[in-house]
Amino acid sequence: MAGFAAGAAVAAAQAAPNGGSAPADAETLAPTGVGGGGAGAAERLVAPVPLRSALDEVALLDDAEQTRRDKAAQAARDEAARQEAARQEAARQEELRNRVYPPVTGVITSNYGPRWGTTHYGLDIANKIGTPIRAPMAGVVIDAGPASGFGLWVKIRHDDGTITVYGHINSYSVREGQRVQGGQVIAEVGNRGISTGPHLHFEVWSPSGKKVDPLAWLQERGADVSGG
Ligand SMILES: [Zn+2]
Repeated sequence: MAGFAAGAAVAAAQAAPNGGSAPADAETLAPTGVGGGGAGAAERLVAPVPLRSALDEVALLDDAEQTRRDKAAQAARDEAARQEAARQEAARQEELRNRVYPPVTGVITSNYGPRWGTTHYGLDIANKIGTPIRAPMAGVVIDAGPASGFGLWVKIRHDDGTITVYGHINSYSVREGQRVQGGQVIAEVGNRGISTGPHLHFEVWSPSGKKVDPLAWLQERGADVSGG
């Protein structure tokens, strides 16, 4: 109320027609006019609080209970959302760990199966010399170097026992015994050995040693060599 009263005094002073007498007027006005007006304003501002009826009390308790329930429900929703986010992140990490990468993307020029009166055990993917070749998934390099017919090759044994083979490569960047991760560059596309143009000859040997269809093997694992 002090500010209110002071404001009123200043207003009264400014309203005075004679500037010279304004301070004196304000001082004389303050005890009576402003003081009385201030008391009246205070009474008007602090409205009498009506006594609550029993029904009002019940309504207030209901409000408090409702607020408590709303908060509990919100906390439950927050917790559920947090758990869902954690679950999605774990699934994403798992998916990344299990992701199978195409060894290279390019144009399939020869598939697994009969070819020229023999069996072609690989998948030929053509691309420019020097195109990076990646390990489809984690494993250990069991061979990296010259190979009859393939010029140079790399062989990787994966954790489930599957072996993947990379032939006609121009160069390799891994050594025997090296652990590689899925997606890691291990070699580059080349045209070495018995080859009719730059391409990767990619083979997949099952854990039992059977040479299986590499395209089907990749497709089953969501790896797309077309680059799509
Ligand atoms: Zn081939």
